[in-house]
Amino acid sequence: MLETLNFEVEKIVKSKIEEVDFTNLPFGKVFSDHMLVAEYSDGEWKNVKIGPYQPISFEPSLAALHYGQAIFEGLKAYRNQQGEPVVFRPEANFERFNISAKRMCMPEVPEEIFMKGLAQLIDVDKNWIPKEEGFALYIRPFMFATDEFIGVRPSQTYKFIIFTCPVGAYYSQPVKVKFETEYSRSCEGGIGFAKAAANYGASMYPTQLAQQQGFDQVIWTDASEHEYIEESGVMNVMFVIDGVLVTPPAKDTILKGITRDSVLTVARDWGMNVEERKVSVAEVIKAIEENRLTEAFGVGTAAVVSQIAEITYKDKKYILPEVAGRDFSNKVYRELDDIKTGKKADTRGWVFKV
Ligand code: PMP
Repeated sequence: MLETLNFEVEKIVKSKIEEVDFTNLPFGKVFSDHMLVAEYSDGEWKNVKIGPYQPISFEPSLAALHYGQAIFEGLKAYRNQQGEPVVFRPEANFERFNISAKRMCMPEVPEEIFMKGLAQLIDVDKNWIPKEEGFALYIRPFMFATDEFIGVRPSQTYKFIIFTCPVGAYYSQPVKVKFETEYSRSCEGGIGFAKAAANYGASMYPTQLAQQQGFDQVIWTDASEHEYIEESGVMNVMFVIDGVLVTPPAKDTILKGITRDSVLTVARDWGMNVEERKVSVAEVIKAIEENRLTEAFGVGTAAVVSQIAEITYKDKKYILPEVAGRDFSNKVYRELDDIKTGKKADTRGWVFKV
């Protein structure tokens, strides 16, 4: 709990909340009443303010639009059993945000602004956290370069903004994926570990091609040989092989997911064998063929667990075991949900009260 919530607030005149149909919430299209904005110039952050969610204007020369200095985060607020607003692991998002900032040559955002600003914004718009089971308030902090200058150099001015969107329960259907053997999401020495807007722009074309071929997503493999598995779409990927939870290591080319860390932590606490190591396509195919692979799933904030039903590799389709029988991923999904909503005790200090 934070004691001082003290940034300037300009409240909206009339809330939009009455116009929102909370029974039918499309993801990412409904925005809460307020947003937090902070500005960076002359080497310091200033003008931190919570005001109405509204358009911002800028010149066509805005640096972020040309050279891609833009980063973001995604996390969620829930209501606990007493109906109080809580946020899941925001410090981890704060830390990752500044790792992204550093790699993109952008200024770090101080904890005071990120954490207290986030808490104050959630407090101002707490009525927007849906009450329905499984629903949440998605929180989007982001930063972009605001110099109105088209010389190629790090911008000297930036905006940091947080806005929020109420979202419905996200039940991900089991997905059909293919091992991507032509395109790459990231490479050694690149920006794969940063939550940079550019990573998402680069992933769209290969993903669209895969969708035209009837897949939901691609499983990214390493850029040099396409031999080792990296991520599944915009989620980290995990397998259970011979009863061991196996996932690629968090390195330069992989985003260090907070759900990934939560799932690995819970698995270790349950006494499961966990291996963070290189996982090859060949190893996974062999384990499927020998019926030693029992589970394959993506992990991320949006769906928490997204089951993989089918994997295609070089035109050969492999059908994976029935989702209903996947003990670990089904159980860990429920466990994380119970911790977030306070049905189970938060013994690891993951749940942050606003
Ligand atoms: N990988 C990528 C590329 C992502 O965009 C995300 C979503 N942030 C993840 C993994 C999962 O990260 P998290 O669990 O922190 O949401």
